[in-house]
Amino acid sequence: MAQRRLSQPETGEPPLRPRLADQPSRFVLLERAVELEYRPQMLDALQRKVDTVAEEARATTPECAQCGQPMSYHDAGPVSWLAHWGRLQAFPVRYRCSLCKQERRPLLDLLGVEPGRICGSLARLLGLLAAVAPYELAARLAQLLLGVTISAMGVWRVAQRLGQAAASYNEALSQYHADSRSEGASVEQAPSAVILGVDGCTLGMQVRTHRRRRVGTELLPALPVIEQGHFREVKTGVLLLPSERVETSPGRRSVVRRVLVTCLGEADEIFRLLYAPLRELGWVGAHTVVVIVGDGAEWIWNRAPMFVHRCEILDFWHALEHAWTFARLRYGEDSAQADRWVHQIAEDLRAGKVPDVIAALRRLRPKTEELRVSLQSLIGYYTENAGRMRFDEYLRLGYGIGSGAVESAHKQVVHARLRQAGMRWSEAGARRLLALRLLLLNGDWALLDRMRMVSLA
Ligand SMILES: [Zn+2]
Repeated sequence: MAQRRLSQPETGEPPLRPRLADQPSRFVLLERAVELEYRPQMLDALQRKVDTVAEEARATTPECAQCGQPMSYHDAGPVSWLAHWGRLQAFPVRYRCSLCKQERRPLLDLLGVEPGRICGSLARLLGLLAAVAPYELAARLAQLLLGVTISAMGVWRVAQRLGQAAASYNEALSQYHADSRSEGASVEQAPSAVILGVDGCTLGMQVRTHRRRRVGTELLPALPVIEQGHFREVKTGVLLLPSERVETSPGRRSVVRRVLVTCLGEADEIFRLLYAPLRELGWVGAHTVVVIVGDGAEWIWNRAPMFVHRCEILDFWHALEHAWTFARLRYGEDSAQADRWVHQIAEDLRAGKVPDVIAALRRLRPKTEELRVSLQSLIGYYTENAGRMRFDEYLRLGYGIGSGAVESAHKQVVHARLRQAGMRWSEAGARRLLALRLLLLNGDWALLDRMRMVSLA
């Protein structure tokens, strides 16, 4: 075969270099010019509004949060913070309680800003970029989208402060609903069924306890190889209503609404976290069946009994995967016979004939010890899970038979941002970023406007 050439043979017309226009698009230039021109004016307008709020704040003397006594004036030094169009300034009055030694600057509380930090909507937008892209890329996007120059570390810091606020809120909400006296939404309109699924994977964790800092131009040393024990399990839980599943195209189902929760670590934790949105939404009423879809992992079934009315479903594709293992061994890889054999099992399982399938497997007389062991394992698996394999029934009830929605949700929450090549996480860093991604993917991003950013030392 002739070797492929990287370039055309040098005969005939020379190639033409692709040309860019001499100037950027005229309209793009106009847009940018107007933006540059008006930025200082917007900053001025914003500063005037801040001044008005400062004026209002000065009219009242705050009370001490501890003893309730009026606090006394202490000082009013200048502070500044960074927003989208530039730096803002204020002279917030600092009040003090001489008894409790408490201090307050009501104006800063009122505005929800922190001296010296990136605040307001710019902070939220940077947090949004960090939630969808690695910090380096998020910094570049900030430049391109917002015209804001910031380092990857700067984006990281903002994401930590916002992420901590979101994570703390989630944690507090789930603690609240762990108490049976908590107020949930009315369950009068509770659906007849809720689907609950859980999926997990591992995250590579940082070995070091401190973030590496570059000193001068010195290169950072290479990261150590990940060893056993430097992984953490991360789990995603999904809630959705079978009634809201719609078929967008033949065979392709999607859901109108789904609620995601996530956690680093323990199985009990994810079930506890799932309970809060169920209460918030009023999704579990006296007659609601909680449909739990699992891939066969024991820890899921072990926790299912926390729901009185439940239906446990073994993911159909995991059930088939076990049949495939035996079929490949018996008929060989890629054999048409294995294909036919599994296909028949699939059809029977879908029709709800689990006892027939098990009986047929028992009639097989495998020739080798290896086959015998494999067959026994398959029979054992189907026998143990028979009560979770009434697929005809689940289809009839509209519950579905697969955990595909759960797996894709998990990939969206975790893989798409936290499992890119070479990524390692600190426990806190992963937890905070996951909290931000959940707000975004659950359609709750606007809640961040009502959360106080957390100062991290
Ligand atoms: Zn006091």
